[in-house]
Amino acid sequence: MALVFVTRKIPDIGINLLRAAGHEVDVSQKDGVLTRDELLTALDTKPYDAVLSLLTDTIDGDVFDAAPSAKIFANYAVGYNNIDLDAARERGVTITNTPGVLTDTVAEYALSLILATAKCIPEADRFTRAGKYDGWAPELLLGSDMKGKTLGVLGAGRIGSGVATRAKKAFDMDVIYYDIKPNEHLEKEIDCTFKETVDEVLKEADIVTVHVPLLESTTHLINEDRLAMMKEGAILINTSRGPVVDEKALVKALKDKVIRAAGLDVYEDEPALAKGLADLDNVVITPHIASATEETRGKMSEMAAQNVIDHLAGDTPQNVVS
Ligand code: NAD
Repeated sequence: MALVFVTRKIPDIGINLLRAAGHEVDVSQKDGVLTRDELLTALDTKPYDAVLSLLTDTIDGDVFDAAPSAKIFANYAVGYNNIDLDAARERGVTITNTPGVLTDTVAEYALSLILATAKCIPEADRFTRAGKYDGWAPELLLGSDMKGKTLGVLGAGRIGSGVATRAKKAFDMDVIYYDIKPNEHLEKEIDCTFKETVDEVLKEADIVTVHVPLLESTTHLINEDRLAMMKEGAILINTSRGPVVDEKALVKALKDKVIRAAGLDVYEDEPALAKGLADLDNVVITPHIASATEETRGKMSEMAAQNVIDHLAGDTPQNVVS
């Protein structure tokens, strides 16, 4: 039996798996993200052998040192930019994530944001609820079509490919993409074009959707200069990580109509929003819920738990990132 700490309540399936494997599991009782001090204190209360962490937890050297027996931190997310991988390596701590099980859900969600933004759905909903609808009108809340438009995908990995494939097959869009490496599998699956630079994608696409991980090289990948390269009628969708887009520059670009609209699920300083963002009508904003379906959150819980179980059994977990 080993001792496992889970930093916040997650769907039961993973907790039950851990307990069925014979482990003692403590789940943080706080209905919210543990502050740094709360996390350090919680890890200090027992000699935990494993930690199941969330993307909202900052996991660095001090956190690893507060749980010296925990040689696995299983992140409940595919992204792991919340974890200091160097500090983990120095201490021989294994880090795992939950890839694949959320790909379809997040791709569906990115498509939903594309449609919601292009067809002005939240704006139309606000308009109708406000009692402003006084009859059909030829030019009321004009959106744009998908068919024949160019979708630009930045980061054609699992999720980016999922969005590209759906955009092509369901909406007959033209697809161009940029990645640090061409995706041959995607190019076999659908007719799409690899571009050598981010800038080419930005200049040519009607809708740009961002699916890169948050790294030093992708921080502010979309900045003021790059927003200025986009078409005037373009739409930017970000379901990756907030700091990939310079949010202040985006607010200005949306205000000045440098681009037409944006759909965002993630923010630079979550849960805070950049000043002025929520006042804009040409942005659709949602609270980091792209993977939030009952099915997917359950699968993520199961996968994170299985990574812990495998590690504790002396096996290599399936989803090791470091
Ligand atoms: P993935 O690793 O399969 O794909 C990422 C792609 O980005 C890869 O093809 C990689 O080569 C490419 N890439 C890396 N650096 C790049 C760069 N500088 N320029 C261009 N491309 C680059 O990952 P995935 O499963 O598709 O997930 C992508 C990201 O989506 C995650 O890292 C995570 O941050 C984010 N995400 C967000 C949510 C949400 O709730 N909003 C949910 C799941 C994932």
